[in-house]
Amino acid sequence: MYVLRSIFVTLFALIAVPTLAADVQPFTIGDQIIAPGTRADLRLAVPARGDEPGTFIPVTILHGDEAGPVLAAVSGVHGFEFPPIIAADRLADRIDPEDLTGTLILVRIANIPSYEGKSPHLNPIDGKNLNRSFPGSPTGTSTERIADILSREVVARADFLLDLHCGDGAEFLELFIGVYGGPLASNFALARKVGEGFGFPNLVRYSMNTQRQVDTGRSLNRQGVASGIPTVLVEFGQNGRRDEKFVTGIVTGVENALSILGIWDKPSHNVPPVLRLFEGTTAARASHSGLFYPDDPERRYLFKGDLIGTIRDYSGKEVERIYAPINGYALYGILGPPVRAGWSVATIGIPTDGF
Ligand SMILES: [Zn+2]
Repeated sequence: MYVLRSIFVTLFALIAVPTLAADVQPFTIGDQIIAPGTRADLRLAVPARGDEPGTFIPVTILHGDEAGPVLAAVSGVHGFEFPPIIAADRLADRIDPEDLTGTLILVRIANIPSYEGKSPHLNPIDGKNLNRSFPGSPTGTSTERIADILSREVVARADFLLDLHCGDGAEFLELFIGVYGGPLASNFALARKVGEGFGFPNLVRYSMNTQRQVDTGRSLNRQGVASGIPTVLVEFGQNGRRDEKFVTGIVTGVENALSILGIWDKPSHNVPPVLRLFEGTTAARASHSGLFYPDDPERRYLFKGDLIGTIRDYSGKEVERIYAPINGYALYGILGPPVRAGWSVATIGIPTDGF
C-alpha cells in the first residue's frame, strides 16, 4: 500500500508540474500569438488613411513561462527623445522571458513618423503631439491612429504602465518621476514604490481629481489612468542628447519595476532615495513669440518674482520679462531661442513635505 501510494504521489507530481506550466496562456497582440517563455519582436500596423501613409509601432514582447502581471514600458511617444528608445533596445536583450512571472511589453518607438522625420514633439505627417491625442481614433489623423493602436493593443492589456520620456531638443530637464494619484488614479502606493525604484531625486504626484483633468489633451499617462492601471511617468535626459547615464538610469529603473511588481526574480539594484517631493506643477508661460533668453540656464530653485528670462521679438526688441509665479523648483523648460506665445518656458514643481 505504501509503495502504491508512493507511486501514485510520484505520478501525480509528474502530471501536476506540466499541468501547472500549461496554465500560462499564450499572449496575443496584434495578429501574433506568443508562446509562454518566449520573446517576440513585431510591428503593430497603423493603417494608411486618406492621403496619409500608414506606419507601424515596433514592439518586443517578453512573455514569461509563469502567469503574472503585465508591465507596459513605452518609449518614443516623442521620437526625438533618444535615451528611452536606446534603453528599450537594451532591455529587450537583458531579460530572458524564461525568468519572468508575467509579461513585459516594450514599445520600442511609439512614434515612428516623429523618429524617422527627425521631428521633436510632433508627428510631421499631421503636426500633432501624440502625447495630447489619446485615446485616439481609428478614423482620425496619423497621430490619432497611432494613439488608438497604443490604447487598444498596449494600455488595455497592461496591469501597470511606465511612460518613458526625457527633455526634447532645446529643453532642459531635471530627472524626475511623475506618479499618478488622487481619486481617479489606481493604487498610488504601488505606483510610488515603482517610481522610487528609479532612484531619481525628484518625485511629483499628479492628482487626478476630475474627469476633465483625465480627458483634456489626454497624454499616454492619462490613458493609463483612464484604463484603471497604476501609471508612472519617467523623465531622464535633456536637450535631445543621448548620454549613457540617462540610458542606464532608465534601464535600472525598469528592471527594478519588474522586481517590485514580482515579474522578475532578479535582485533589485540599489538606488538613492527621493530628495524632493512635489504636489503637481505650475507653468511660467510666454505671451510673445520670438527669441527666449534664460536669465540663468542653470538655476532650478526659484522664488516668486525671480526673473526666469526675457523674450526679444523678431526685430530684436525686448517684449517680455517672465518671472517665477511661485516658490518652487524648475523641473523642465526651454533654453530657447525658439519661443511661441502660450508655451511654458519653465514647468515648476510645487514643493510639499509629504503625501
Ligand atoms: Zn516626451
